[in-house]
Amino acid sequence: VWGPASRMMSHQNLESLDVEAIREEFPILEREFDGQQVVYLDNAATTQTPDAVVDAMSEYYRTYNANVHRGIHHLSQEASIRYEEAHDRVAEFIGADGREEIVFTKNTTEAENLLAYSWGLNELEPGDTVVLTEMEHHASLVTWQQVAKRTGADVAYVRVDDDGRLDMDHARELIDDETAIVSAVHVSNTLGTVNPVSELTELAHDHGALAFIDGAQAVPNRPVDVGEIDADFYAFSGHKMAGPTGIGVLYGKEALFEELEPYLYGGGMIRKVTFEESTWADLPWKFEPGTPPIAEAVGLHAAIDWLEDLGMDRIRQHEEELAAYAYDQLAAEGDVDLYGPEGGPDRGGLVSFNLEGVHAHDLTSILNDHTIAVRAGDHCTQPLHDKLGVPASTRASFYVYNTREEVDKLVAALDDARQLFA
Ligand code: PLP
Repeated sequence: VWGPASRMMSHQNLESLDVEAIREEFPILEREFDGQQVVYLDNAATTQTPDAVVDAMSEYYRTYNANVHRGIHHLSQEASIRYEEAHDRVAEFIGADGREEIVFTKNTTEAENLLAYSWGLNELEPGDTVVLTEMEHHASLVTWQQVAKRTGADVAYVRVDDDGRLDMDHARELIDDETAIVSAVHVSNTLGTVNPVSELTELAHDHGALAFIDGAQAVPNRPVDVGEIDADFYAFSGHKMAGPTGIGVLYGKEALFEELEPYLYGGGMIRKVTFEESTWADLPWKFEPGTPPIAEAVGLHAAIDWLEDLGMDRIRQHEEELAAYAYDQLAAEGDVDLYGPEGGPDRGGLVSFNLEGVHAHDLTSILNDHTIAVRAGDHCTQPLHDKLGVPASTRASFYVYNTREEVDKLVAALDDARQLFA
């Protein structure tokens, strides 16, 4: 029962974020369209970027822009050091053992593909099962589906129950000695559900399987410790955590990364090349061929500093409070269908819903008339929407600069849609 009582328990009585001060670091939030200030509630797609991150990237381009790992000149050395340090900072942030366990990719999607290609294509065989959940993002669902097709492995899905939570009895049934890997989303980008990922990794390991966790919606807004979760692999994106686009992370346990074949080949990832053969560079460079996202790595480093300065516990508290508030306000309307668990420790900072009788795209367009930015569609979870029995939903997702007043504006604007479509 996730009523207000359990919600209270989730609050850790931390000092709240100073949202007004935070907003000043995001000039984009002052933008107006048709005289109305933007209400940005599309953070699960991409968060806004604070000045500190833009400044760090600007400093890179202005003062030490050069390619990494190749030069003996000063600028290249400086860029290389900062690029490597960004790996150390990410490792520290998520509780990894060191830079060897942190591979920079383009985004979460590429991180998942890296794993699926490097490990999946080489290791999966007929008789193996890849266990996913019904709430996986297409980034993992489609990727594992394709790799399973090419290797003859099976794919199975842990059921989502009527409350939008994983049916863990079903997980215990599905995960068995045939299971090769369990791939699960940490926080659902559609339902908002926070999944019991430690339980899932334990189940996987009990059966000799690997565990991959998609943390794209978790790392931005809650403390994450990959060691505590005991994930073998874990992925997330810079652009969803106040960082830049163009950079993502694949964490992997060093011993496992050592065994894995590279996914992409080229310069920067080799140790020795002859006309006959090549050998690979040390971790993590073995998985980072070509010119990597250097400015983006600098930006991600700055974003992590910025987030930790606010405090990940306080960020989680802020997100939980806003999501619970939005859930309650929308539920009180009476004609709004909400998906996923009620607000509380079981829900991340987003709420997906439908206004009865109004298509999500129409609603989102009307909200845009009020300069309220939300997302309509299937949020890259088409099979989950099929299961929910709706083609699409509207998703409001929150970050550190959002306020209750912005939620109120969203709820008030629903009236326009009712009038238009009633
Ligand atoms: N996984 C989840 C849970 C997501 O929410 C997203 C982004 O929407 C992704 C994966 C893909 O992230 P990216 O587009 O940065 O690759």
